[in-house]
Amino acid sequence: MKFHQLTFYASLFLTGVMMLVAFVFDFSKTSILNMKTGMAATFLASILLMIVINYFVLDFLFNFYGKKQISRIRTILPQEMMGQEEGMNFTQLGERVSEMSQKTATELDTMKEMETYRKEYIGNISHELKTPLFTIQGYVETLMDGAVENLAVRDKYLSRIDTSVERLLDIVKDLDMINQFESGEIDLTITEFDINILVREMIDLLDLEAQKINAKMQLQAAQQQIFVKADRQRISQVLVNLISNAIHYANRDNALIQVIIKPINHKVLIEIKDNGMGIKPEALPRIFERFYRVESSRNRRDGGSGLGLAIVKHILEAHHENIEVHSVYLEGTTFSFTLEKGE
Ligand code: ADP
Repeated sequence: MKFHQLTFYASLFLTGVMMLVAFVFDFSKTSILNMKTGMAATFLASILLMIVINYFVLDFLFNFYGKKQISRIRTILPQEMMGQEEGMNFTQLGERVSEMSQKTATELDTMKEMETYRKEYIGNISHELKTPLFTIQGYVETLMDGAVENLAVRDKYLSRIDTSVERLLDIVKDLDMINQFESGEIDLTITEFDINILVREMIDLLDLEAQKINAKMQLQAAQQQIFVKADRQRISQVLVNLISNAIHYANRDNALIQVIIKPINHKVLIEIKDNGMGIKPEALPRIFERFYRVESSRNRRDGGSGLGLAIVKHILEAHHENIEVHSVYLEGTTFSFTLEKGE
């Protein structure tokens, strides 16, 4: 039945009821003549009767119409919003709609953030790739313009091209590793090994780099042997990234880099401490973001890609561990993390 038909029948019904009440009232006026209290009582009873009848008729009308409208709205709105619940009223419908619109607003915000992040990410990647690519292009052009004839120049340029290609490969490998971590494709190979030996190996590996700036590297282990349960190869990457950062950001004479290892309960604490340039407090929360570099480090010529600490964080998170940093600007920085202790 259409709503206007229903209203029409309801108004007919109400008019009928009103006429009946008027008739009863008129009848009581003539039959209960001169009885003032009787008149007032009949009048009151008639009003009450009208209120009750109006209430039920209007209630039925609104409910009937409301349910019809709600079931029509249900067919338009998505199923996930309405659920399986039958007999929903307008208040519940309003709550569902506002819940849904809040959810949609949050989703939209996330999508906008992702979009900005995606743009930034692509911008950052192309920026990082551009520098070595332009270097390669420059040397190749010079060689093609005749420099290739001069053997000394040729060898120098070829070795610079080689360095730039290495750098490109490093960036691509780092990106690939981060992507694999983020898509959960990396499985750790957990073994038990002596972390002291691994740290010594990494110190030896980076010794040449340290010598270039006359930096000293020291291992301070609380015990001769300290076993941990972790992925040896991934932890060696963590150590290389942290120790090479300590070397690169020393920026001073008498640079000292210490790796301190001590067992604490069922964990082993590893600290990489330097007395280098430090990090300003405002930059600290961001250094683990991909491509983030403190302003003064952006022009580093030997070029980090700003991915080193992001990788460190990913590797440690895969081990269910955290990385912490404490830094005093111009005094030094300490990175620390724990690993599960071995037997
Ligand atoms: P990068 O490739 O630039 O070294 P990282 O992710 O390894 O990228 O580091 C991010 C930034 O954190 C660096 O650019 C540098 O500004 C800062 N940083 C990292 N380690 C140190 C450190 N030991 N001392 C001072 N600054 C550091």
